[in-house]
Formats: sequence, structure tokens, C-alpha cells
Amino acid sequence: DHISQMQQGASKILVAVRARPLTKKESAINDKPLVHVLEDKVVILLDPSEDLSVPEEIFRQNRSREKQYAFDYSFSKDCNQDMVYEKTTKFLIEGVLNGFNATVFAYGATGAGKTYTMIGEFDSPGLMLKTFLEVFSRIEALSGQRDYIVKLSYLEIYNEIVRDLLNPSMETLEIREDPAKGVIVAGLNEILATSPEHVISSIRNGNRRRTSEYTEANETSSRSHAVLQIVVEHKDKASGVNAEILVGKLSLIDLAGSERASNTKNRGIRLIEGANINRSLLALGNCINALCEASEKGGKVYIPYRDSKLTRLLKDSLGGNCRTVMIACISPFVGAFEDTHNTLTYANRAK
Ligand code: ADP
Ligand code: MG
Repeated sequence: DHISQMQQGASKILVAVRARPLTKKESAINDKPLVHVLEDKVVILLDPSEDLSVPEEIFRQNRSREKQYAFDYSFSKDCNQDMVYEKTTKFLIEGVLNGFNATVFAYGATGAGKTYTMIGEFDSPGLMLKTFLEVFSRIEALSGQRDYIVKLSYLEIYNEIVRDLLNPSMETLEIREDPAKGVIVAGLNEILATSPEHVISSIRNGNRRRTSEYTEANETSSRSHAVLQIVVEHKDKASGVNAEILVGKLSLIDLAGSERASNTKNRGIRLIEGANINRSLLALGNCINALCEASEKGGKVYIPYRDSKLTRLLKDSLGGNCRTVMIACISPFVGAFEDTHNTLTYANRAK
């Protein structure tokens, strides 16, 4: 299946879609969801002009083919954080401990559930915390034979500018390529992760520093890409100074909202922001498509990593031996039809 294929290094991208439930506010306006998930794979998107009052069983039998998509996994509103973690992220940790890099990103419009998925809420932690819990327990189990270091960094890319979310001074940082170390961000704080509690408080503090600006499209609109990177380094205790150090990196990314600048009636600086956000998302999409093509053809395909800050940062974490997981988050609300449709199209292209 897909997971074992990825573990064998046939670098295909795992594409998952996650539909969130309607919020109370949305239900009060229209309580018929446009999104239906079948058999953990298929997503059906209804056209808001269709009759939404048809009972679900009848709808399932007569569903139209055009708005139907199949993904590696599709999570309905009833899937909890654990189910999403198990299928999209847990299996990557083995590879990271074996010295491979991997990336998980949440894509989607503002309000679709990206932050809920990656960070989560107090009583339902998301992928970031679950990943650290797993890493710590794996390390604990092996600590008799091996010495481990777990480091974390947390940065944002806002308007094609990189800033450290763990450093209150928030100066602009440069991305560089080091022949030995791979991609590095000069001056970025890497903190030693000592416990899951320490990690989650660092993430929460960092998150408060994220650049969020008011736009007409939404009360608060996340305009920045937030990138959490976990680096695990370890070596055999018995081999002393000559021990080979294994280094693996996992990038967990809460992307900026994918809604188009034109949707928000933005002008001036906000419009430039929109263009930059789209540039990074477009570049990410182009890199992923090129990587898909490379894995199909098996030959050399040019991957346009240099087209944006986000893709430059991820150069050593996408493609090659790296495993990539995309979680496309969608809203079932009638008013989000356009965004949901765009997100499903983007995710469909990444398969
Ligand atoms: P985004 O980060 O994509 O802008 P959020 O993660 O902030 O979106 O989600 C928008 C709202 O929907 C939040 O109030 C969040 O609590 C809620 N939400 C998102 N996904 C889920 C889910 N799977 N289950 C329950 N509530 C969710
Ligand atoms: Mg968010």
C-alpha cells in the first residue's frame, strides 16, 4: 500500500483531505454540509445550487461524478486528532529516527482547520504535540544504547520574509545552503526539547508571535506560513567519539490561508501579501507536481525550489529520500464552496 511504498523510498506524496464540522455560527445560517466523505477515501463536494435537502442515502446513490475526488485518506468531520495523526504522521517518525527527512503540511483556506490539525486545542492537541510525545517515548525506549538530542525551531514566512517565532526580537533571517548540513536558516534559534510540556509551551508562545492581520474575508486571517522543525540526532553510546551521528528532520507546517487575494477586496499592502502568499503556495504546488512527475518518469526533472522562500527552506525535506504528506483542510459550509473546490483541485493535482 501507500505507506509501505513510501517507506521503500518510492517517493510519492501522501495526500489526505480533512473536512471539519460546521461551526455553530455556520449551522445557524445553513446546516446542510456541502462535503461528504465515503469509505475514508472519497470526498464529494456538492454544488450549492443542488438540492441539499435530499436525504443522505439517496444522495449517495445518485451522486454526480464530476465533484468526486479520491485521496489516500479522507477524514470526515467525525475523525478525531488521533485518527489523523495515526494515518498521516506517526509512520514518518521511524524514518526520522533512521536519519531521513520528512514534511507534513496543512493546506487550505483560512478557517478550514489547518491550525486545529497542526497545533490543536487544549483538550485536543494536534499533530505537533503528538509527534513530540511519540519521539520522546521512542527515545526513552532506546536510551540505554544511544545518546539522543532533540532540537526544535519554529519560524514564520510572512511576505517572503523569514522570522524566528522563538526569538522575541524577530529580525529578518536568511536561508542558506550548507554543503554538509543542508538547508540552514542563519541565526535561527534551535532549542533543546526536553519534555512534551516544554515543547508545547514553546509552540504556543511562538504562535502568539505569528503575524495575523485583519482582513475583510475573515475576522483574523493567518497570513503567514508557520514552520516547526524537529531535528533528532543520535549516536551509539558504545562507539565513543567515532560514532556515526544519525540526523533526521521532520518539518510540520501550518501554511497561510490559500484563499485568493481577490476574495478579500484587499488593496495595497494586503494585496502584495496575497501575491506573496500565492507565490509560496504556487511554488510549493509546482515543486510537488514536478516531484510527482519525477517519481513517475524516474528520470531527471527540474524541481523549482528556488522560486520561493518556503520551497528553498524545504529543499532538503521534499523529494528524494524524503517523505511528504499533505493534509488539505476543507470546510463543509455553503459559503466556503469556492475555497473548498480550489483546495480539492490543488490536492488532486498533488497525487
Ligand atoms: P485555519 O487555521 O485553517 O484558519 P482553524 O484551525 O483555526 O482554521 O479552524 C477554524 C475553526 O474551526 C476553529 O474554531 C476550530 O476550532 C474549528 N475546527 C477546525 N477543525 C476542526 C475539527 N476537525 N473539529 C472541530 N473543530 C474544528
Ligand atoms: Mg490558522
